[in-house]
Amino acid sequence: MSSKRPFHVMVIPTLGCPSSCSYCWSSDERSPIMKIETVKEMVGWLGTFRDDPVTFTFHGGEPLLAGPDFYREALALITEGLRPRKIAFALQTNLWRMTPEMAAVLAEFKIPIGSSLDGPRDLNDHQRSAGYFDKTMAGYRVAKDHGLSVQFICTFTSYSAAFREEIFDFFLENGLTLKLHPALPSLKSADPDRWALPPEEYGDLLVYLLDRYLENIDGIEVRNINDLARCVFTGRGTVCTYVDCMEDTFAVGPDGTIYPCYRFVGMEEWAMGSVRDRPTEEELAASPAGRKMRAFKTIVDADCKGCRHLRYCRGGCPYNAIAPSGGELLGVDPHCAAYKRIFDEISDRFNKELFGSMGMGRSCRPAAPSTGKAGIMAIIQKILSG
Ligand code: SF4
Ligand code: SF4
Repeated sequence: MSSKRPFHVMVIPTLGCPSSCSYCWSSDERSPIMKIETVKEMVGWLGTFRDDPVTFTFHGGEPLLAGPDFYREALALITEGLRPRKIAFALQTNLWRMTPEMAAVLAEFKIPIGSSLDGPRDLNDHQRSAGYFDKTMAGYRVAKDHGLSVQFICTFTSYSAAFREEIFDFFLENGLTLKLHPALPSLKSADPDRWALPPEEYGDLLVYLLDRYLENIDGIEVRNINDLARCVFTGRGTVCTYVDCMEDTFAVGPDGTIYPCYRFVGMEEWAMGSVRDRPTEEELAASPAGRKMRAFKTIVDADCKGCRHLRYCRGGCPYNAIAPSGGELLGVDPHCAAYKRIFDEISDRFNKELFGSMGMGRSCRPAAPSTGKAGIMAIIQKILSG
């Protein structure tokens, strides 16, 4: 019996969004919304595509613009239509349209929510848009009142990186999980580099967050650092950016077009097929977009040859790789310098804790660093016990 290969389908009910964040490409909130017929077609396609466990992430644009009736029907169709395989859901939203009715639907399916906040009100609203913070926090309260789990992604830009201390303290003091997202050049933006965080600054930021995390290990969860430490500890990349995503991640746009990932949705040249045609894995892979995604693996194997982090970094994200060159695949993810920096830092500290001057405790477990401060092992223990 072949082993299961879990995969990920990002569902984009609309590319529209009521916010107008400075560094985002989402379109007008009146942009078309996915029809329930398209959800039925998607379920039909997935029924023939692979029988592996699948995680659906509703993303956008702003996915809550589709409204509670859409989710009531779509979630039931997916769950019933793909039974008995293992299915999980997630949703990424700015929470502005989180009403009690919507929250009740999402709570019924126990859907974890990812949202976005870039730090304290003024800083957040400067980057995202006036009034954003209050609207998101209002939605957050509704979600929490319905027992939904909400974690925030914090986008660091070339502007906000200078306020990293203030931002970290905001998440710490408010008991919020922090997931960092570096602002990237976008293929859809007219001024792609304006907010983008340069790789060296991104590397500095990651090391800063690692240190602050270790100082406050019991008071906050920094998801990226957990993920990076897990990569080093297991020798395997398992999360987006640090994994070959091209065989196991797809996105379905509002009209049922299939793309390699949500970041390509709406770009004709990255369309791989349509859910209506029920494409096979081979057909998606053979599309021009599928071939380009696979070409990234070949580039990574050549360009990253000899890198000690290759097994779990895998050259970073293919979208990041093509964004600065207007869609052409010329090399690996330009954030390589940042990845190297943080992976070096984590693996060197980890090796030092395991085999270095601290030595091993009697039980063959690594002793705590002699400084008395938490080390990488504390993060690993936190991950293992989580
Ligand atoms: S293209 Fe990049 S963002 Fe999209 S799934 Fe792959 S690694 Fe993640
Ligand atoms: S750190 Fe850089 S060289 Fe190493 S695998 Fe990642 S992208 Fe490639």
